[in-house]
Amino acid sequence: MAAHDFDFSAVEKRLGVSRRTFLKFCTGVAASLGLSSNAAMAMAQAVADPKKRPPVIWLHGQECTGPSEALLRSEQPSLEHLILDLISLDYHQTLDTGAGHQVEDIKKKVMAENKGKYLLVVEGAIPTANDGIFCKIGGETMVDITHEAAEHAAAIVAFGSCASWGGVQSASPNPTGAVGAPQLLAGKTVVTIPGCPPNPANFIGTVLYFVTYGKLPPIDEKGRPKWAYGRLIHENCYRRPHFDAGRFAKEFGDEGHRKGWCLYKLGCKGPETYNNCPSLEFNNVGGGVWPIGVGHPCFGCSEGGVGFSKPLFSLADVKTHTPPNMFPGIEDRESSTGISSGAAAIAGAAVGLAVGATAMASKKLDGKEKDAE
Ligand code: SF4
Ligand code: SF4
Repeated sequence: MAAHDFDFSAVEKRLGVSRRTFLKFCTGVAASLGLSSNAAMAMAQAVADPKKRPPVIWLHGQECTGPSEALLRSEQPSLEHLILDLISLDYHQTLDTGAGHQVEDIKKKVMAENKGKYLLVVEGAIPTANDGIFCKIGGETMVDITHEAAEHAAAIVAFGSCASWGGVQSASPNPTGAVGAPQLLAGKTVVTIPGCPPNPANFIGTVLYFVTYGKLPPIDEKGRPKWAYGRLIHENCYRRPHFDAGRFAKEFGDEGHRKGWCLYKLGCKGPETYNNCPSLEFNNVGGGVWPIGVGHPCFGCSEGGVGFSKPLFSLADVKTHTPPNMFPGIEDRESSTGISSGAAAIAGAAVGLAVGATAMASKKLDGKEKDAE
């Protein structure tokens, strides 16, 4: 169906967004997913059909509710309308106005009446130590609640880093035995949308795909939708030319930091973190508002084994030394040595590692000297 044949009034009424805003959003999601503009129309039609709203059971384990907060505070294009009208949010442990047995009964009723049809969203880690006693809701452990809800779910989404692999709760020594939904539900397919907080657009895009096609989008070996987590932050970062040219900020507030140079030597984990933060940014305000854009190194919040595992200011493992072809070669303007950008990147990384190691050694030495004094 062409856009001019489609009655957008139903969408405008249900979601409180204009036809232009809504189509722009659907086209953006379709493009991110690598789908044609026809897919945007298919998504628009799916959203306009109230019968396509899947019931959603939304659980909370060990967490700060950051993913739900991020989702509710998103603005353009009115994502809060989209999420509340795109799905039938039948049970959400922090948004439900009811409480106690009333909401627990509703949850069990919705699950019994919609076997194989409801979407299960898990937010927060699941503590497994000591028979799971560290997180209980309505007298049941999060372990049992998650297993019960997962049994007849049409699809399972782990939203946020805590639900994806354990997040900050699973940081060593992990006294509560916190794990993510994929680890607890081994053998089941769990789509993960990691991040601390995750970008709400990655969740909306995944749900929109599910509502439109009745299945989840292609995922990688960690369960992440490839359309959102297929590239390293380092590959799309606007500071990448400075990395390739070996121009690094070495301290917060120094000349390199003020000039917007690469944050690698301040511990940026962009070179080993997969996420689309550089292209989506945060808070819908544009203008480069995302962590690296405002001068803070990425700490790898969405990457298991990096965020909450590696020290904040340690140097990242650089997975890709060769810069993308389309990047301007700053080193060509800065030097006439003829060194290739790839070689400059490796040299930059090597220098970074050496300087970083020296800085760490000197800090340790300082500590020893101070102790000795
Ligand atoms: S190290 Fe960080 S700041 Fe530097 S280019 Fe890579 S992602 Fe950007
Ligand atoms: S830039 Fe890094 S730390 Fe910041 S939100 Fe993105 S993945 Fe997380």
